[in-house]
Amino acid sequence: MCLTIPAKILEIDKEKAIIESVNERKKINISVVKDLKIGDWVLYIANFAVKKINKKDAKEIINLLQPYKEIDISKLDSKFKRILEQARIRNLTKDEIIFLLKIKDPIEKEVLFSEANIIRQTHLKDFICIHGIIEFSNFCENDCFYCGLQKKNQELKRYRMNIDEIVKVADKAVNEKGYKLLVLQSGEDYFYTDDMLSEIIKKIKKKCRTFLFMSIGERSHECYKRMKQAGCDGVLFRFETSNPKLFKKLHPKGKDFKKRFELLKFMRKLNYFIATGSIIGLPGQSIEDLADDILIMKKWANMISMGPFVSSDNTPLAKHSSGDPEMNLKMIAILRFLMPDTRIPVVTSLETLLGEGGRKKALQAGANSLMFNLTPPKYRSLYKIYPDKFFQKEEKWEKYGLFKYEESYKMLEERMRKELEKNHAKD
Ligand code: SAH
Repeated sequence: MCLTIPAKILEIDKEKAIIESVNERKKINISVVKDLKIGDWVLYIANFAVKKINKKDAKEIINLLQPYKEIDISKLDSKFKRILEQARIRNLTKDEIIFLLKIKDPIEKEVLFSEANIIRQTHLKDFICIHGIIEFSNFCENDCFYCGLQKKNQELKRYRMNIDEIVKVADKAVNEKGYKLLVLQSGEDYFYTDDMLSEIIKKIKKKCRTFLFMSIGERSHECYKRMKQAGCDGVLFRFETSNPKLFKKLHPKGKDFKKRFELLKFMRKLNYFIATGSIIGLPGQSIEDLADDILIMKKWANMISMGPFVSSDNTPLAKHSSGDPEMNLKMIAILRFLMPDTRIPVVTSLETLLGEGGRKKALQAGANSLMFNLTPPKYRSLYKIYPDKFFQKEEKWEKYGLFKYEESYKMLEERMRKELEKNHAKD
């Protein structure tokens, strides 16, 4: 589940080798990879070589991880420089966050992203984690203005995966491909009873050594309790916007701002690992709102889940333009300052708007994980939260990013445990 770092072998001494990678030169254990010689390229994780790779692929991965070029910062605005310096030593204030969100100068933007990238590299090295999402039903009881799955959308062909189908996809992802963190997502679909959801979780957890997150909306407290008992590890549950008035405007029925936060609070009490965040660029949203979103993510998220608004057909917001992906990149960078070792995935909506190269831009602005779509092809195009969802060829990433390897599971486990420990300080 982690894209490990490519390194070149400089010296070999029995089971140990001196290697050189993007940022460092070190000694690693090479006992699991057979027939290595000086000059070969390997991928390594936690001081172990795990796979031999060819030079071309190694260069490609390194290129993706390369930080921005050095920038002459002597001519930069002094306030901007001061804020960036402060960001290294203390949390930014709301005003400082607003200042950074507003920067327009291309060099300032480049500096912001590259500083965040350096923080990512210092805290997380170049490990890029790959998670999988299975969109198991596009039925929804709600009418969120921005979302193409809304109940009122009669144009959308609906589908539901049955329990066996869901478990089978998870089984293949974990046991054949090596995924170690899966998200099961759907509209708010009450067809799946609490019993059924518990059954799905139990079956997956029995077959697969994986972390399992549910993203199914505002189900009851009882439901979240039962899912936790069944073995669910986390939730992906966005607060969508920190502005209560905007929230009310965009959610005509059923959803309530206060209730959503109460549920988040309850999830934390149950010790769920919480992935949360907002939609960026909603009509009527201000920069101040986005700064509040960032502060709320800092308080509530164990993992970030945010993305730009993408205008979706057959919704009340169909005619509004999509959000600014660059604003999303700035938010990634600022959150990286505020939460140096927290998981920040590159989401599909951002890749949809940025297109080719977007993934690299987001990683180089401080993001550190990817969320791949594991929904079976026959359903994939029907999960139309927004149109033209971006699909990149993921085979190469999967080939190098996923290992049926205990070490990377343990690394994830350790990171998640540490992240949850921070909750005590946040309450
Ligand atoms: N039913 C679940 C999962 C919702 S879909 C829930 O309510 O939590 C996952 C996320 O997609 C939503 O939380 C929302 O933030 C995002 N989303 C929906 N429509 C969108 C759009 N048009 N543009 C960008 N993101 C959108």
